[in-house]
Order: sequence, then C-alpha cells, then structure tokens
Amino acid sequence: MPEDHMNRKLFWISILLITSLTSLADNELITGEELMTRFGADLSTTEIRAEKLVGNLYVLFGVGGNIVASIGEQGVLMVDDQFSEMVPRIQAAIHELGGGDIDFVVNTHWHFDHAGGNEVLGGSGAWLISHSTSRDMMSKGAMVNLVAFTVEQDPYTESGLPVMTFDDRMQMHFNGEQIDLLHAGPAHTAGDAVVVFRKHNVVHMGDVYNNAGYPFIDADNGGDLNGMIEFCKTVIGELNEDTVVVPGHGPVVGYENLVSYVEMLATIRDRIVGLIAEGATLEEVIAAGPTAEFDEAMGDSVDMRFINRAYTSLYKHELGSDLDN
Ligand SMILES: [Zn+2]
Repeated sequence: MPEDHMNRKLFWISILLITSLTSLADNELITGEELMTRFGADLSTTEIRAEKLVGNLYVLFGVGGNIVASIGEQGVLMVDDQFSEMVPRIQAAIHELGGGDIDFVVNTHWHFDHAGGNEVLGGSGAWLISHSTSRDMMSKGAMVNLVAFTVEQDPYTESGLPVMTFDDRMQMHFNGEQIDLLHAGPAHTAGDAVVVFRKHNVVHMGDVYNNAGYPFIDADNGGDLNGMIEFCKTVIGELNEDTVVVPGHGPVVGYENLVSYVEMLATIRDRIVGLIAEGATLEEVIAAGPTAEFDEAMGDSVDMRFINRAYTSLYKHELGSDLDN
C-alpha cells in the first residue's frame, strides 16, 4: 500500500536523521524506553488503536509490539503487553471493547517492548505465560545488541515473571477456542512463542515475523537467522491460506505475506552463507549487498543491523565459532 510505503520511508528517514544528528558513540548503552523515545515514540501520550480481527479477537497498536486480545465470556487473554507506561491505556482500550480485567498474558518473547507491561499486569492479578527460556531471560536481565545501540534490560521482579512456561508446545482452551503456543527452536530470540487461535484462524507471530522493516535477530542472546526461517516454516505448516497473520511489528497481513517473507529471508541467508564460505568478512558481506533488491520495500537498514546480526548468527552456525567482535 502506498501509505504504508510512505510511513516506512518516513520511519527510516527519521532514524537516519536521529542517527546522524546525535553522533552516537558506538554501541551506546540505553534503556528500552530511551530507545523508543529516540525513534519518535511517546510512551506517555501515544493512544492505543484497536482493530477488530475476527470474532472476539482484536489487535491493539501502541508503542512496541503488536498486541492480540481475546475478549469473551471467560475473560481477557492478551498476547504481549508493550511497556508498563502503556498498560493503563491498554486496559482502557480493552474496557472500551467490552472486556474487564486482563486474566492471561502470553509473552511472545522476553524483549522489553513486548513484555514491558508484565510487572504491572502480573502485579494486578494477570497470569503470565511464556517459553521457559524467555522466563529465564526476564529473571536474569540481558543486553540486547542493536548494533548502533545496546539496550540494557533489567531483571524483572517476581510479579513480572511468568507463572506458567512451556518448552515445545502448549494448549489453552479459552473463550470458546483452542489456543496453541508453539516454539520451534532459536529464531528472533532463543525463547520465542507463536500463538495460534485455531477457531478464528489467527496467528500472532511475535518478532519471528517483523512486517515493519527487516527483522531483528538477537544474535548475542541465541537468536538465529537460520532458525527464524525454520521456525516460520514450521508455523506455516500449521496454517492455511486464509490465516490472518499478526506480525510482531507492522500491519496485519495474510498467509501469502508470511510465505514471501520466508522466501526473502532464505534468499538473503543463502547469499550470506555463500559469502562466509568464501571467507568474507562482515564488511565484505555488507559491500556485496545481499539484501539489495529488498531494501526499498523493507527500508534500508541504516546501521546495517539486519546484515550485521544475520552474519553474526550465520557465522556461528556455519563455522561453529563466535566472531571476535
Ligand atoms: Zn523482540
């Protein structure tokens, strides 16, 4: 859509400006909230925008990861909860849609922009659920290397930690439908969960599928481009052509968009793997332009974050060793 394209362009232009105007030190350490502010998001005023998906399922857009909410007779289940500052507006949006208190929150992963509302919601009685590795990361805290910045995520207190975890797969039965939580190995992080609402044929992909630019691979914390491709393929095997796909970020799309995303990732992966086999350094891989024909649609990766993180994860995968830097 032209408007999307325009928004995406503006988004990348603003990042370019921010990056060039602030002359950042290499890999500056900041908080998740600071990161959002620098990218132009206002955590104190941004309103939640709700869009109906199918039946009693809604997607909520605010600051951070997309939320899917199931609002029905048994209560409210949410997938992801953005930032603590956003929680009062998320609760208000749910009330406006006819829901009450939030009973369950499923975290697609542990990152600050998806699980940041956990402490507030867990503290007010919601049951939190995640992959076991994500709970582990939430309890320990972590450094998220975004190349130009590193976000320091503090450990969550008890109230922000999931009370239920799973390893491979988990089923819930809530508001009249089966809800499947799937994990298929390291991808965006090492603790991703994809959530499939079976009756309404809706999937929340978390950041295993980013539809607002190239995906981020948290390579320093076990994320893996190869794994991201395999994870998506496993999920696609559980879906059909009519599935409504909610990405971690960006607009809601259809099944075919997810399929072409995987094809794009596989093309880029094959090129980078080929270059690594020839002994190419990161700089040489960047110079070879392995993402060239996708850059206009996906937004140029200004600091080459995508190629940087992809290369780092593939290097580990291909050569079984870490890079020096
Ligand atoms: Zn993430």
